Amino acid sequence: MSFVHKKRIVLIYINKRMTNENPKEKELTTMEKIISLCKRRGFIFQGSEIYGGLAGTWDYGPLGVALKKNIENLWWKRFVTDREDMYGVDAAILMNPKVWKSSGHVDTFTDPLVEDLKTNKRYRADHLLEDAGIDVKGMSIEQMSAAIKENKILSPDKNPLGDVRKFQMMLKTHIGPVADDDSISYLRPETAGGMFVNFKNILDTFHPKLPFGMAQIGKAFRNEIAPRDFIFRVRELEQMEIEYFVNPIEWEGVFESFRKDMWSFITDDLGLRKENVHELEVADEDRAHYSKRTIDFEFDFPFGKKELYGLAYRTDFDLKSHAEGSSVDLSYFDEETKQRFVPHVIEPSFGVGRSVLAVLANAYAEDDLGGETRAFLKLSPKVAPFLVAVSPLLKNKPQLVEVAQSIYRDLKKRLGRAIFDDNGNVGKRYRRQDEIGTPFCVVVDFDTIGAPDSNPEFKDMVTVRHRDTGEQERVKIADLANYLEAKLK
Ligand code: ATP
Repeated sequence: MSFVHKKRIVLIYINKRMTNENPKEKELTTMEKIISLCKRRGFIFQGSEIYGGLAGTWDYGPLGVALKKNIENLWWKRFVTDREDMYGVDAAILMNPKVWKSSGHVDTFTDPLVEDLKTNKRYRADHLLEDAGIDVKGMSIEQMSAAIKENKILSPDKNPLGDVRKFQMMLKTHIGPVADDDSISYLRPETAGGMFVNFKNILDTFHPKLPFGMAQIGKAFRNEIAPRDFIFRVRELEQMEIEYFVNPIEWEGVFESFRKDMWSFITDDLGLRKENVHELEVADEDRAHYSKRTIDFEFDFPFGKKELYGLAYRTDFDLKSHAEGSSVDLSYFDEETKQRFVPHVIEPSFGVGRSVLAVLANAYAEDDLGGETRAFLKLSPKVAPFLVAVSPLLKNKPQLVEVAQSIYRDLKKRLGRAIFDDNGNVGKRYRRQDEIGTPFCVVVDFDTIGAPDSNPEFKDMVTVRHRDTGEQERVKIADLANYLEAKLK
């Protein structure tokens, strides 16, 4: 759905809800504000916008990339570089189609699709049922069809719906110059496959002992029936995934340890409020047959409590299936016990886009400052695109600009994420930096440079303004970097 289109629909929804005085009104308004801020400030744009968009695709602008990279770097540091048992890979997106046959994706990676019999518009049957307050846990597609009929559920356009059927979600393409059945391949629907096919390569080149893991950050593609909720459900997505290989006797301990690490990433790295994240123990009937345990981490998004990440114990299903499909031995020999077995897998899986959206929703705030309502992003310094913005009070006074430039260069060296901002007046700069979540603004004024009639007490000092409170204080230039570093910890 195009950005404009989506925006219009959200607005129509808001208006409709407002007349009904529905409590959801506020949440929808928040979503609308976040989407608009992302576009206005250069975080995220609609994909192919000048051509009217392409449903389920979004482009990250400079600030979105900065935020996303910070999240990815924090993840990579916590789960790869800070550990000694993790091997990073970057596998190809295009894979031999047999991979997806072995993994079960060709046969079972489907969503329940239902069609409006009048408009032919297609919807996720489970979403329509859930929207009507029906619990779809464990329902087969036949049961969904029956539930739609029994409960007389209509499409959003108020038309009757057809039977529910399975819709294959992998995006198909043809490899090479001939487009026939033999050249069919798929864009990977998750990054996991690229790790399983490299399991033997890691064993043979690094000879790791169990337990050990493989980690990857990369794109995946899903032909979602109804992409929606901004970057929450898209067709081109990015994942951060781990396949952690264990001896089956130790799976429970490893599962618990990843569960704890995922919470640390959520609260300590992303800065999400703990009370807005919930664990959901996925019921037996909703888990894949090979999975013995799955926990979904759900976040209170403005549009409801929805899946943020997943943690699954996948038994030996993956390596066994790929060993069978490829006829290559994917077992492991334990030197100590002299046992040979196929390792089991614990899989923590993280969506990058959903992390970005959760961080934005968590940080979005409004308050009254100086008699005006202001919107700002209360981003943790760990993820904020910039830590500090430096500016001269006036951009046409060379003496102010020179000092500001020199402070900027120094802070950029020390803190990395610094920006020089001399656009508009100081008030406008504060507003802009608040909206992009910069924790501090530093301003060089006439007192700083000891101009005639200035306050001598404030010479060689700058104004430091705090994003969250709007408070300002004077700090000596010589102490500035240390002062900011301490505050940003
Ligand atoms: P959902 O039930 O919301 O469709 P899923 O259970 O199919 O998600 P997984 O297959 O477990 O998701 O994928 C792992 C992670 O990848 C998810 O927890 C989520 O963060 C992310 N993800 C999956 N599908 C999408 C999508 N269409 N758009 C954005 N992120 C996604």
